[in-house]
This record gives sequence, C-alpha cells and structure tokens, in this order.
Amino acid sequence: MSDSFWIGNLDLNKKVHIIGAGISGLLAGYYFKRNNIDFHIYESTNRVGGKLQSIQHESGIIETAANSLLSTPRILEFLDHLGLEPISTTKKLKRYIFRKNTLKSFPYMSFSELIIFSRNLFKKTPINIDELSVYEFWQPLLGDKCCDEILTPALNGIYATNSKNLLFKDVFNSNFSFGKSYFSYLKFLKKQASSFKSISFPSGIEELPHALEKKLEGNISLNTKMSTYPENSLICIDAKSILKESLTTIYSQTFILEENIKKLEGSFGVLFNSSSPLLGILCNHQIFKRNTRPSYTLMTSKEFSEKDFLQCIENLFNEKHSIINKEAFSWVKGLPLYGQQRPIELNELLETPHAYFGNYTKGISLRSLIEQTL
Ligand SMILES: Cc1cc2nc3c(=O)[nH]c(=O)nc-3n(C[C@H](O)[C@H](O)[C@H](O)COP(=O)(O)OP(=O)(O)OC[C@H]3O[C@@H](n4cnc5c(N)ncnc54)[C@H](O)[C@@H]3O)c2cc1C
Repeated sequence: MSDSFWIGNLDLNKKVHIIGAGISGLLAGYYFKRNNIDFHIYESTNRVGGKLQSIQHESGIIETAANSLLSTPRILEFLDHLGLEPISTTKKLKRYIFRKNTLKSFPYMSFSELIIFSRNLFKKTPINIDELSVYEFWQPLLGDKCCDEILTPALNGIYATNSKNLLFKDVFNSNFSFGKSYFSYLKFLKKQASSFKSISFPSGIEELPHALEKKLEGNISLNTKMSTYPENSLICIDAKSILKESLTTIYSQTFILEENIKKLEGSFGVLFNSSSPLLGILCNHQIFKRNTRPSYTLMTSKEFSEKDFLQCIENLFNEKHSIINKEAFSWVKGLPLYGQQRPIELNELLETPHAYFGNYTKGISLRSLIEQTL
C-alpha cells in the first residue's frame, strides 16, 4: 500500500468506520475494499454523493457542485474499472477573460505586458517555496497587474479566492527543482497538463458516486447520522463541519435561457478578477453536448437573483435575455481555503482520536481525491 491518503491514525487491522458517503467517503471505502480492509460507511442523508448531484432537467443536466473532472490516463483507467464511460468536453472552445472591461481570449496580455513577461521568463524562481503565496511566487514573472487580472481569475473559479490567499505549494505542482528559470517551470507545468482531459458522464458527474455505491453494496448505511464517532473512525464529512477558519463561500447558479448569449457562442466560459462578485461563467450547453437549451452556470461570491443575472448579462455583453429556469446552490463556507491557516488547523486535528480525509486534507478537486486513493 502507498502512503496513506488520510491524516491521523487508523488501525487497519480493525474495522474502519467511515463517516460520510460523499465522494471522499466512497473513494476511501473503495480503497479499503480493494485492499481487503474491513470497513463500513455511515451516511446521514438518504443518498450518496454529498455535494455532487446532477439534476436531470428537461432541457439538460444541472450540476449542484462539480461540473467536470480533470482526468489523467490513470484516472481514466480507474473509471473504466468502475464501468463508467466518460464524455469529453467539446474541443477548441474559446476561453475568455474579462479584462479592461472587455472580453479577451485567455490569457490576454497587452503588448507591453508581453514584453515584460518575455524578459522575466529567464528569471530564477524562488527556492524556498514552503511559505509563499501563489501571488508571491508568480509576481516576479507576471508583475502585480497580471497577477490580479490573469492569475487570480484563473484560480477564482476553483478556489473562490484571490492568489494572495492561496499557498503556492498547495495549488501548483511542487515536484520540481526550484531555483531554475520560470521558463523551465512553465514547461514542466505544460507537460503535466498535456495529459489532462476534462470529462463528465452522460447523466452528469453523479454517475461517479453511483458507480462507487454499486461496488460498495452492503457496506453503506444511509439515513444514519453519526453524532459521536466510534473508535477507529475515518471522518469524511464536509470541511465546514471540521475546520474553523480555513473556509470560503461559493454560489453556483445555473440559468436556462430562451436563446444563446451571442458574445459567448463557441465558448467554454469567462473568468473574472477579484473586484467582481462574479468568479466565472460556464457555457454548459457548449461544454457538453447533452443540453437542449442554452444553459449558463455562474460561480459567484454573492447570491445572484434572476434580476441580477439579467442585469449582469446586459452590462457585460449588451444583450437582453429571458430566463426559462433557474437552479441555485449556496455553499456558504462550503469550500476549504488553501491558505496559511489550513496546515495549523490540520495539526490541531491530529490531536483528536480520529482520522480525516476530504477536500481540505490534500487537494480540493475530484482529480486530487481520486489520485490519493489510487
Ligand atoms: C460550487 C462547486 C463547484 C465545484 N466544481 C468542481 C469541479 O468542477 N471539479 C472538481 O474536481 N471539483 C469541484 N468542486 C469540488 C468538489 O465538488 C468537492 O471537493 C467534493 O464534492 C467534496 O466531496 P466530499 O465527499 O469531501 O464532501 P461532501 O460532498 O460534503 O460529502 C460529505 C458527506 O458526509 C455526510 N455527512 C455529514 N455529516 C455526517 C454525519 N455526522 N454522519 C454521517 N454522514 C455525514 C454528508 O451528508 C455528505 O454526504 C466544486 C465544489 C463546489 C462547491
């Protein structure tokens, strides 16, 4: 067995009690099943999947949280073992960023910014990266403005916070000899990203927890809220119930429209900088060809009403639209914050008698959760 994916102590010679059947709890259970370790999963609600839910709407699928999974060849193999048939995102969609009050192709830089960027490419990266924020690491290459207006938007849609609040080593691959040039580090990241493929499933991302549920038949008790944890528990409940401070909020609102937003035709979506409550817009019907009507998901840091949405579309794109349907999901303190405070809070958890695994322990994404349990 490889390094443990959980933090804290577990005795694998005794039965493991997994608390929560979100994707973390299910992946943990599947790992124990493959390794012949005795376990049982307890889930407080009447379904598995936790935040992952794919609502089947007559005009397409509406996701409550994750829209897609960034997979690698190893993850695709794992999904194949689960009997899943992934669908890929549409190729060659344009990715936009809202910069200088207009829609630009990501990552847009002005001519003068490009010159400074090219000059800085051969600067050496910092060596001691442990305490650095994402902003501090990239600032010598990008400068303040591009950090705020390009780097932060790229992270906003995933972490719902700006680059100053995120620890570099938690967000970027640090398996690199730092001290070499930014150019070599970018080349290293590009090589790693070349094997990534963004996918979902024909009936939405919820097919993943359902496939795991099937494999774990007989090992899951639904409608079983655990208010105290038995000895040898692996706690896989949401970050909000575990961490005190390292949390942030995201709202995910999907709007089905009568007609396409013309300016976003052929596009994956748009990213925004931190001065806007908008974090990102996803064009669902273009990303996956399973929606019959134009469908847009807004990730925001505040709740958007239908009126707010229509006003925002009019301001951004100078287009008037009408909404057919809206589904809104609020995740108040629903995302872990990968900042300076998180390692301190994780250390405090080590003083409790339990073990923990979730999107706050070693990685926020589904890709990271899966990779840790492979
Ligand atoms: C808006 C949004 C968009 C996202 N987009 C993406 C994306 O595109 N790609 C990506 O990779 N990731 C994305 N993520 C992240 C990903 O969705 C989460 O990291 C992941 O779903 C978290 O799963 P979890 O199992 O750790 O927690 P949860 O889903 O919160 O599961 C916890 C489970 O524990 C149960 N539980 C709680 N308390 C108890 C108890 N006392 N007893 C028993 N059971 C209990 C709950 O009912 C729940 O089922 C997104 C997240 C959000 C919020």
